[in-house]
Amino acid sequence: LREEEDQAYFSSYSHFSIHEEMLKDRVRTESYRDFMYKNPALFKDKVVLDVGCGTGILSMFAAKAGAKRVIAVDQSDIILHAMDIVRLNGLEDRVTLVKGRIEDITLPVDKVDIIVSEWMGYFLLFESMLDSVLYARDMYLADGGSVFPDLCTMSLAAVADPLKHGEHVAFWESVYGFDMSVMKAVVIPEAAVEVVSAETLISEPAVIKSFDCNDVSLSDLEFESDFCLKISKTTHCTALLGFFDVWFERGCAEKVTFSTGPHVDKTHWKQTVFLLEKPLPVQTGEELKGRISVHKNRKDPRSLLIRLELRDRRLHYSLQ
Ligand code: SAH
Repeated sequence: LREEEDQAYFSSYSHFSIHEEMLKDRVRTESYRDFMYKNPALFKDKVVLDVGCGTGILSMFAAKAGAKRVIAVDQSDIILHAMDIVRLNGLEDRVTLVKGRIEDITLPVDKVDIIVSEWMGYFLLFESMLDSVLYARDMYLADGGSVFPDLCTMSLAAVADPLKHGEHVAFWESVYGFDMSVMKAVVIPEAAVEVVSAETLISEPAVIKSFDCNDVSLSDLEFESDFCLKISKTTHCTALLGFFDVWFERGCAEKVTFSTGPHVDKTHWKQTVFLLEKPLPVQTGEELKGRISVHKNRKDPRSLLIRLELRDRRLHYSLQ
């Protein structure tokens, strides 16, 4: 990644507000906490690396769970506060904070037993922070060590929400009496991050990608996948919806998982919505087949380009 682009990325994490939002996301933060507090045997006497520690919350969970030593790394200035927070909580003997990009710094240890990180972005892969976790894994993880969360899936489902579709698409056809329908060409290709009501779903979710952070490689994170959505209602499909699930499982006595899907408590990741310009007629029992491809945007490697083929339509989206 180019230096200037990364500067903007890291300064977006220097303000407290984004950390406040993440800490208050209880589904997210309690999942990490439960995974660590409920699996003390996993952490006892282990060396843990926290990639992107932010306020230091995951490092402090790991220390409390029994880790011998925790190395917390962050390039953003938020780590200056994490240093105070760790001291304030009397954990400075066990948590070592290092400011810098994980790719640039030298760790005070050769190898670590466990890597924890909260790297997930919208539609899982937005931000490309997983790349940095994989770098840390390949560089520092001891043989037999583990990365958490380990399993991840990305899913799609079909949505029928004519009201929302009208608000976002037909809206442009008459704005205070003027035709702004040319705007549709910029509105539709921008994937939206929104909470989607489960009542608007018209299919079961279909998994389009699954991997384990312990063995996935960088090249697996750009992919194409066929999918099939079993339609449960005769109506018009107005959008496809994307979300992800993660698991903390490897060697865990108590497994933990959470979902960012529309059937469960919402998280700060919400869901990702791919609006169809023209609603697509579908029938109960139909198998709506499609293909999705997910790639990094070469011009802005932390954003994603998503291509959908749905029946005979070819749709292009970006998540930025
Ligand atoms: N672990 C914290 C913060 C998660 S947000 C929590 O769970 O609340 C992700 C953090 O990772 C941000 O603070 C960001 O600055 C940091 N980060 C992202 N990529 C990084 C990299 N390559 N090197 C160091 N820090 C990184």
